[in-house]
Parts: sequence; C-alpha cells; structure tokens
Amino acid sequence: MTTSTSVLRSDLRDFNGYSSARSIKQVGTVWLNANESAQPNPVDSAGLCQRYPEPQPSALVRRLAEYYDVAPEQLLVGRGSDEGIDLLVRTFCMPAEGCVLIAPPTFGMYAVSARLHGARVVDVPLRDTPNGFLHDLEGIVSRALSAGASLVFLCNPGNPTGSMLRLDELSRVAEALAGRALLVIDEAYGEYDEAASAATLIDNHDNVVVLRTLSKAHALAAARIGSVLARADVIEMLRRVQAPYPLPAPCVAIASDALKPEAIRQLQTRIDDVRSERDRLRTRLSALASVRYVYPSKGNFLLARFHDAEAVQTRLSEAGIVVRDMRQLPQLGDALRISIGSSAENTAVIDAIESLSRVAA
Ligand SMILES: *Cc1c(COP(=O)(O)O)cnc(C)c1O
Repeated sequence: MTTSTSVLRSDLRDFNGYSSARSIKQVGTVWLNANESAQPNPVDSAGLCQRYPEPQPSALVRRLAEYYDVAPEQLLVGRGSDEGIDLLVRTFCMPAEGCVLIAPPTFGMYAVSARLHGARVVDVPLRDTPNGFLHDLEGIVSRALSAGASLVFLCNPGNPTGSMLRLDELSRVAEALAGRALLVIDEAYGEYDEAASAATLIDNHDNVVVLRTLSKAHALAAARIGSVLARADVIEMLRRVQAPYPLPAPCVAIASDALKPEAIRQLQTRIDDVRSERDRLRTRLSALASVRYVYPSKGNFLLARFHDAEAVQTRLSEAGIVVRDMRQLPQLGDALRISIGSSAENTAVIDAIESLSRVAA
C-alpha cells in the first residue's frame, strides 16, 4: 500500500470530486455545455475570458513539469502554494481529527490551513544554534509518528529563518515516515540556492511532496501560480479535491510566457542580483551597533535580531520602508524580516538603521 492510500481521508476513498463541463473530454465545434455566453465581453474582444479555462492547462503543466524536472502527471498546478497547502490538509487530514506537524518559527499558512480544517498542529521547534536555525530531525520523526500526523511540513529554505536542510537529511526523514505520513517540502525560495530540489526524491520515496511557486523568484506573485510535485497517485487525489477551474486564463498565459527559455535566462540574472545584494546587506547590517545578529540566508530575505526592534521598525517606517515584524513568532521576540529589494532600496534600509545607531551611540 502506498503512503498516500494509507493517509488519504477514509471518507474520501471513493470520492471523485465535481465533474465540471471542462473535465469531461469531448470534441465539437459548437460549445453549449457549460452555460457560457455565446458573445465575448466587449472589454475582452478577443474572447480570452469567454469560456471556462482548462482545469489543468496542459501546455502550462508540461512547461512547469519540464522546468521542475518531473513528469506531467507528477504535477498539480493551482492558485499559489497556498492552495497546495490547503489541498494537502483537506485531502489527507480528517476534519477535526487529523494532525499536522510543523517546525516553528516557520511559514504561517501550514498552521492556518490546519486550524481552519479543525486539524491538530504539533510543533517541533527549530533549534537556534551558532549555525542558524536547525531542524530537530529525530524529534520531528518521533513526534510525527507518536501523534499520528499525516502531514509533516518543512520549509526549505526556511521562511523566516533562511536556513536549509540537505537532501540526505530530507531523504532520511521521508524514509522514517514512509507509510505513515507525507513529507511536504516547501521550496518557495528554491530558486535562490543551487542545491538540488527535493523533487529528485519523489521517484524513490512515495511520501515526498514538494511545493513550488512562481510568486517569489519568478516575480509573478499576483498571477497566483503554484505547483505541487509528488507521485501521480498523490496528485490524482489532490485533483479531486481542487476547485473546478482554479486558474484564470490570463494568469495561465503569463505563467506560460515566464517559462520560455529567454525568460528563464533573465530570471537567472535577477537571482544573481538578489544574492549579491543579500550578501552586501547582511555584511553592512551586521556591522551596525543596533543590530544584534543577521542570520545567513538562502532566500531573498534576511532575518535580523536587534537590540531594540521597535525603534528600528519605527525608524524604517519614518523612511517609508515596510518590513515584516517577526516578534510575535516563537524565539523571535527581537527580530524583523527584511526582503531583499533593489540596490537603492537596500541602501535606504542600511542608511535608516545606521542613522538610528548614530543617535543611540
Ligand atoms: C511566499 C510563500 C508561499 C506562498 O506562495 P504562493 O505561491 O504565493 O501562495 C509559500 N510558502 C512559503 C514558505 C512562502 O514564503
């Protein structure tokens, strides 16, 4: 029995989902099966939005699968990784009974989706070490098994910590959870590091699920295009739970263009810029008196601790700069997360915090 079969909600075993007009494969030239308008909207004279879109647009699925190096049947595309997270919880956790494991401080949506579903959230906190935040892998496996978690969410590179797990570590966790839980590896920031994707583990582990998105490095956050990569049986189960027409046609079009070779070449230039700006910002901030510590980061952001985070945030705000307050997260009572901006924006961050250090000195 595959892991997906053993963790699928027992009440969904013979559930086929909604059968939409588009999901039933038919041929014809006169389409009168979906109650669409026969005339396009005047603001859409080419009729791009006149008909319901393909549930899983085949050209986009092929391009994404090629880009992420999986087979098309190992990929589900949806409205951002956020939808992927929600689908995983709804498919593999019994409402009000199921359980997911997270390693905080981490991305907030795992716990939000679980709570909205009535699922229990088990925390195995990250350990703050001189090498950055590290996962307690033995603790994660043993708690997942003892609590009966069907999903283990690991963010890699970690948001907001910026730290990274190695593939051999992920592979060991997947092995230990086989048959009992799916290991979901969220690679929202995967483009910013050269390490191989956990998607390379899918062929050897039936319980590995990887989340990817076009929202971060690809600069298409508003298009809402995220992918779930996993064995075909997992993808098929998620598909039955997904809404009938998740992807707006204009978003599908822009995402397809963004995966063409020329766009991918330009992406690499932007990634290189982010990485060099990230190093510059980290070096400069680390030298300032008001800064306690800036964590190394594999993403397009820096997590920094301050002697007075409130004062830093106020000063940044006076300069019109908005950063993410992390102080409500466990272990991060003095921390802010700063996204890597343009070179001029990063310089403005340095100047603002530097001016505070001068006043304080
Ligand atoms: C930003 C982010 C996401 C959300 O991605 P969308 O594809 O825009 O929904 C998912 N996971 C992590 C860790 C993120 O930081």
